[in-house]
Amino acid sequence: MKSKRLTIQINKPINDVFKFTITPPNSTLWIDGVVEEKTNEWPVRVGTVYKLKNKKGEYSEVSVNTIIENKVVEWISKDQNYHCRYTFRSLNKNLTELKYFEWVDKGNLEDPFTLEIFQKLKVVLEQCKGLSWTVGEVEIFQIIEIQAGELIQSTLKSATPENIQKIQWLYPHFADEKGNLKALVQSLLVKSEGKYILIDTCNGNGKTRPTIPEWGNLNTDYLKKLNDLGVSELEIDFVICTHLHFDHVGWNTRLENFTWVPTFPNARCLFSKKEYDYWIEKPEKEIDDDKFAFDDSVAPIVKARLAKLVDNNYKIDKNLRLISTPGHTPDHVSIMIESEGKRAIISGDFLHHPCQIANPNWTMDADTLPDIALQTREKLLNHVANSSILLIGSHFSNPVAGLIKKAKDGFIFEV
Ligand SMILES: [Zn+2]
Repeated sequence: MKSKRLTIQINKPINDVFKFTITPPNSTLWIDGVVEEKTNEWPVRVGTVYKLKNKKGEYSEVSVNTIIENKVVEWISKDQNYHCRYTFRSLNKNLTELKYFEWVDKGNLEDPFTLEIFQKLKVVLEQCKGLSWTVGEVEIFQIIEIQAGELIQSTLKSATPENIQKIQWLYPHFADEKGNLKALVQSLLVKSEGKYILIDTCNGNGKTRPTIPEWGNLNTDYLKKLNDLGVSELEIDFVICTHLHFDHVGWNTRLENFTWVPTFPNARCLFSKKEYDYWIEKPEKEIDDDKFAFDDSVAPIVKARLAKLVDNNYKIDKNLRLISTPGHTPDHVSIMIESEGKRAIISGDFLHHPCQIANPNWTMDADTLPDIALQTREKLLNHVANSSILLIGSHFSNPVAGLIKKAKDGFIFEV
């Protein structure tokens, strides 16, 4: 192949798309092969050199030979053989078309760009805002903390790339072409009857997590994303943790003067009583990260008298109630939303990835009671299948929500 052309539309103003794509450190967020990218000067102009490092540790260089703001950027390799051009066009205030053209004068393209790379760019750029849904009078907003595909795949033993590639509907939203899973750690902010209810609070910043260090010591802009929705920490009325795993309780607290203090000081934090009673014993079979999380993200809430221990069918208000979905942890709950005849379920972790919709018998390593977790998945999927109940998957990548349909064997997820 001597040349490659690709076109993608991104739901963002042209200025955002242009700025994001030419900014060197951003490349690592959307081009999997690039682990580092730097320029010799900033802002970028004709002659600016971009130095890239790939996964194998090899460096390459391209320099800018054309740049017109919000219109076009063209790069050329050091040996002048390889060329690459991005052309930007505004389709409307919030929609931009990006055309990609790369070519070589001699030989073949070594590693041509794929549409999948651009789909990732689209997701990364569009996620800056986050998705939202309406269920009757209830509004739901997404707050993304981090990507979780790799870790979730490593704990779902049946979800090998070969097995994932067989489930064709997972592509492009929930898996890439090669069978790698896409997933997120995210919170869902629910607005119901004028109150703000935060469902699950992700990993949090600066927490010690010896077993899964990738999800420890984070420094994300999670709270800024909440504030960007026009909501401050002080305005959260309730926090609900579907279960007490470390990736669902982290932002309950933040570090202040070497002490873990409540991040949402005006929120009542709802924990299932039975779930709480399980984790307070620090069960030997569970990983250290969950025990650490109990101490740094659950106990301080109890100490501050903000915790409310409830039954697993607790009714939060006229639109929201807990439903029991045990197995992943002993008293895991999901959230049922019912308003004006519309219904939705926020899953928590009774499902981790849509591949378990296709194969409910795919067990996750972190399930405390795998047999009960399987029963729960089958029961819930059968209950929701072919209905108008929107399933919002707590770890699902964008578009996160969809409908369950019965298929020949198993189920499919329609988004
Ligand atoms: Zn989780």
